[in-house]
Amino acid sequence: MASRNREDAVLVIGLGRFGGTLAQTLQELGHRVVAVDRNHDLVQQWSGQITHVIEADATSEVVMRQLGAHEFRRAVVAIGTEIEASVLATGVLLDLAVPEVWSKAITREHGRILERIGANHVVYPERDAGERVAHLMTGRLIDFLEFDDNYAIAKLRAPREICGRALEKTALRSRFGITIVGVKHPGGQFTHAEAGTVLGPGDLIMIAGGTDRVEEFATAVG
Ligand code: ATP
Ligand code: ATP
Ligand code: CA
Repeated sequence: MASRNREDAVLVIGLGRFGGTLAQTLQELGHRVVAVDRNHDLVQQWSGQITHVIEADATSEVVMRQLGAHEFRRAVVAIGTEIEASVLATGVLLDLAVPEVWSKAITREHGRILERIGANHVVYPERDAGERVAHLMTGRLIDFLEFDDNYAIAKLRAPREICGRALEKTALRSRFGITIVGVKHPGGQFTHAEAGTVLGPGDLIMIAGGTDRVEEFATAVG
């Protein structure tokens, strides 16, 4: 592969459940993906679905250089269980000056080490999925996404008490500290909400605000 192509290709290290799904999704989104795993069976298994799958040990700088890892602009280390391999593979990519390295961490301590050695993004898929499912289970939230700094966006059915009058009359910001950012009438698509938007029962709304306020709103209104 020419180095020009590798500029926008993504290198994925580790084809476990997380790395495999990530690689496949990136490919479906139209990105070129090169995946590396040291497990022969996994490499065989994925080679039908991902265009470039290579069997190699990602903790070896020599091997990774031979694969052209230094030509990639973005890489993901999706090794979880073996913290040592995760840290070493991340270190190799950083030493090879890959500009954007994403690494998966399984614990806070693991994540701190990855951050200290210079990983640009550290993700915690198991922790995040646990939190997300807890939010989905406990309230009326149909979908929930929490960003850093305690800010969240959630999707829910329009509560009856704010239906039938313009949003500007509901005082949602002062009463609940949340903003309605999107509205979807039955059978329609999500569109942005305006001061004059009137909700009806059966509408879906997308709200944004501090995580606690989003939770409070979802439980306070019926
Ligand atoms: P999952 O996403 O399934 O939860 P996990 O977090 O449990 O994965 P592991 O199973 O430890 O992570 O690792 C994911 C993959 O990374 C495995 O397929 C494993 O073979 C691969 N892997 C581990 N170490 C290396 C290495 N040094 N070089 C290349 N691949 C590796
Ligand atoms: P993770 O969320 O960390 O990716 P995992 O999907 O790899 O977890 P396991 O580690 O196999 O799943 O299991 C999660 C937890 O469930 C472990 O703490 C394990 O001890 C517990 N567990 C597994 N089987 C049983 C069982 N039969 N009864 C009670 N607890 C169990
Ligand atoms: Ca796991």
